[in-house]
Amino acid sequence: MTNPYEVLGVSKNASADEIKSAYRRLAKKYHPDANPNNKSAEEKFKEINAAYEILSDAQKKANFDRFGSADGPSFGGGGAGFGGFDFSGFGGIGDIFENIFNQDMDGLFGRRSGRTRTARGSDIVIDTDISFEESCHGVTKNIIFNRNERCPDCHGTGAKDDNSLQTCSYCHGAGQVKQTQRLSAFGVIENVVTCPVCHGSGKVITEKCKTCNGKASLKKQVSYKVNIPAGINDGQTLTITGEGNMAAGATGISGDLHIRIHVAKHPILMREDFDLYMELPITFTQAILGTKVKIPVIGGTMDLEIPANTQNGTIRRLHGKGVKKLRSVGTGDLIVKIFVEMPKTVDKRTAQLLQALDTDIRADSYKKVASYRSKVYN
Ligand SMILES: [Zn+2]
Ligand SMILES: [Zn+2]
Repeated sequence: MTNPYEVLGVSKNASADEIKSAYRRLAKKYHPDANPNNKSAEEKFKEINAAYEILSDAQKKANFDRFGSADGPSFGGGGAGFGGFDFSGFGGIGDIFENIFNQDMDGLFGRRSGRTRTARGSDIVIDTDISFEESCHGVTKNIIFNRNERCPDCHGTGAKDDNSLQTCSYCHGAGQVKQTQRLSAFGVIENVVTCPVCHGSGKVITEKCKTCNGKASLKKQVSYKVNIPAGINDGQTLTITGEGNMAAGATGISGDLHIRIHVAKHPILMREDFDLYMELPITFTQAILGTKVKIPVIGGTMDLEIPANTQNGTIRRLHGKGVKKLRSVGTGDLIVKIFVEMPKTVDKRTAQLLQALDTDIRADSYKKVASYRSKVYN
């Protein structure tokens, strides 16, 4: 474990403002909202907060500075416990963030802004399959899923009626309590945490609402229309803010709805960014004589002219025949690579005809063969 100065990337002589601005910058960068499902960012975020806990507090900072000069700047050994900093008492990453945020970072992340702690419902992730064509044109899908919604009978209090809702005696209605944590190297760290008895509401229920059994929310099946934009690619996720689970309690905000898009493979076309790629096999006679072939494009097929004497491996780029750029202007290209296929077998008569042909085709028609022979055969 590195020391808190290193974590925040500041020198030992850094001013309080420098420490604060380094912290803000890093906290924003590694915040879980900006890095969904990213474990290492989450770890980093915890580390940054732990470092700031120390360096933003004059007493803890002084303790650390003394400790550092006694045992060197590295903080790993000796069981002194920076690395063993225990977050379990905080109730998860959201709480850590909000505690610090409410003291110090008001306005840095708009939707968490506010003086009191706001409960937030959990996010919901839904997987949706769409066809290749739908991913190119965009599509509206009806998504059906279950989510927690506020109980209509108790309006999210969980109580039978107003009389069965009493002020919490543990936090005296504040919804938060101070919690101290003893760390051998730093003395005591004091945190404001959500009241464990009333879970932040400041109220306790004496008689539960029968509809939701005191849970304040009910699972409800909802149908949600989502507009999937043209150009979306396989594996991309659409996030719809506030359409996730309702937070427990009468106040609070809902989590987000994440829709993970799975695009079915096209039998011929392969996508990379907004360009499409395909291999077009033609026969060797088509390659010599020229032809017109049907190729797949978005929305149907088109005819592609193959000129006479087309070489194997020829690449044709069809501008604007790719995928429409996602939430942007312009369209990718369709890149066609021509593969000249030789017949696997020919009958005797065909072989004789080809033999005759071979003598008829002038040797200087084969530039590469002629060049090779001039180097090897003389
Ligand atoms: Zn209820
Ligand atoms: Zn309470």
